[in-house]
Amino acid sequence: MPRIPMVDLVGQYHNIKPEVDKAIEEVMETGTFIKGPAVKQFQTNLEEYLDVKHVIPCGNGTDALQISMMALGLQPGDEVITPSFTFIATAEVIALLGLKPVFVDVDPDTFTLNMDEVEKSITSNTKAILPVHLFGQCADMNRIMHLAEKHNLSVIEDTCQAIGAEYTLKDGSAQQAGTIGDLGAMSFFPSKNLGTFGDGGAIFTNNEDLAEKCRSITNHGMKRKYYHDDIGVNSRLDSLHAAILDVKLKYLDTYIANRQKAAEYYNRAFKNIPQLQTPFIKKDSTHVYHQYTLVTKDIDRDKLKEHLSEQGIASAVYYPVPIHLQNAYQHLGYKEGDLPVTEKLSKNVISLPMHTELTKDIQDEIIEAVKKFLK
Ligand SMILES: *Cc1c(COP(=O)(O)O)cnc(C)c1O
Repeated sequence: MPRIPMVDLVGQYHNIKPEVDKAIEEVMETGTFIKGPAVKQFQTNLEEYLDVKHVIPCGNGTDALQISMMALGLQPGDEVITPSFTFIATAEVIALLGLKPVFVDVDPDTFTLNMDEVEKSITSNTKAILPVHLFGQCADMNRIMHLAEKHNLSVIEDTCQAIGAEYTLKDGSAQQAGTIGDLGAMSFFPSKNLGTFGDGGAIFTNNEDLAEKCRSITNHGMKRKYYHDDIGVNSRLDSLHAAILDVKLKYLDTYIANRQKAAEYYNRAFKNIPQLQTPFIKKDSTHVYHQYTLVTKDIDRDKLKEHLSEQGIASAVYYPVPIHLQNAYQHLGYKEGDLPVTEKLSKNVISLPMHTELTKDIQDEIIEAVKKFLK
């Protein structure tokens, strides 16, 4: 473990320990570990927080994506437009269901789908767009929803990194990330902005029919016990995790504010350094900084990473190999050069420690170490 890690989950736990421990104990004492009242309570509170009609808890973010696509009834061969610059889970579930991932390049500033490229990639086989709100900022949902309507496509938002981000719609109203498209997929993996002490996930939707379908699929396609209307999976949020998440949900806005404050502190320190591009602030989306990611220019990114590591400072590269160039996806026929922005970013991005417990002292150390390397 580096002296200064990427996240400080234990520190965060210690600050809310009495509440979390009590919530865990309550579940232990009720003995309802699956589908207990804690799950329902968290679900309701999250629906209220997001102002969305339905939250369907499930086992993890990858399942949330998969179940979303199953609920839409997508068929083998259907094309799903998605970025290659993302965590593997996004494309993995598309491929797993026999659908065809169509990778589109991203914008060099926001790291989200380049909408001109999306438009060019739509064919008669395109059935869905799967934008990723990468690092905590929403993709261009106004244009995505417009295109989806025009071409009759479904939209699944990969919201795993962006819970709590606010998106401004064309009419000026604000909506939570993950509640704009047909479905939103969320992960409660420990290091996510709302994370539990294990795996967890959820699907968000305002569509009654899709909600019912998702609920059925998460539970073996079963509405009435032992009668199966859909081919489903087993994907549940355990009561213990729901109880922990329900405590943490109360702090989500504070956690987001802490991340934003830390990001501003980094921004001020790095803004006039020509070798570093600081995160772009979009007009239509707030940034909840799941990651604080810099793009390096004219320096050896890996050497910077090494330099930080030597001083006990963690950093990370999300993501070093774009999905279209991963071994497992070679059958799709992509080659180097197909997605130039994505490929360039994968060589030049670096994420610095970002979490809810960062102090100015820790950040000063990180900033100084980065600056020293650039001298
Ligand atoms: C974390 C993550 C996932 C997968 O979530 P799990 O809970 O780990 O399955 C999917 N997409 C993105 C963008 C993620 O960051």
